[in-house]
Amino acid sequence: MTGNDYLKMLVEDIHSTTVATIGTDGHPQTRVIDMMLWDENGVYFLTAKGKAFYDQLMEQEYIAVSATKDKKAISLRGKIKNIGSEKLDAIFAKNIYMQEIYPGDTRGALEVFCMYEAAGEYFDISDPAHVVRDGIAIGAARAHPGGYFVGNDCIGCKMCDSVCPQKCIDISGQVAVIDQNHCLHCGRCAEICPRQAIVRRR
Ligand code: SF4
Ligand code: SF4
Repeated sequence: MTGNDYLKMLVEDIHSTTVATIGTDGHPQTRVIDMMLWDENGVYFLTAKGKAFYDQLMEQEYIAVSATKDKKAISLRGKIKNIGSEKLDAIFAKNIYMQEIYPGDTRGALEVFCMYEAAGEYFDISDPAHVVRDGIAIGAARAHPGGYFVGNDCIGCKMCDSVCPQKCIDISGQVAVIDQNHCLHCGRCAEICPRQAIVRRR
């Protein structure tokens, strides 16, 4: 799936997300924020100018977002920008419950933010014996392919496959190959490998 596919899922299917910023005490703070719109430029949400959350967004210009529904989860970290009242009417037209929370011209208390550059991950455990993992890149960001990888020291002993909970290691060739889209990142393969051939990339 593309980055746009994941943005669409975030807005249309999941909608309510947990957004993290850093508080004035230097510690993380989270709150539930609805993702209102998406397009090829990013994903849009809003908040009131009177909130501490607004101040943090303006100052930090960066958030972390996590959301889950039906055992499918999206996590993103990335850059945001304030676009003022641009798209505010479109957000209220699409998300009509907002018209009752902020009736009439009281919507003027709100401003819209766009997450325009972000990287993260999709994780699906709806079929627990066959989890699905994917990297996500929005805008100019690149997906970070962290996880476990088999290096050149592999001797094909197959011990890693014997302890893998997802059986996501291809041992049909001379060296083992981990299927990154189904790996739990549990590390059991690396622990048992007699050649320390499996390394974790952060
Ligand atoms: S346990 Fe290590 S050496 Fe053995 S097949 Fe797996 S990666 Fe290769
Ligand atoms: S990290 Fe865990 S799930 Fe991934 S290949 Fe190794 S044992 Fe399997």
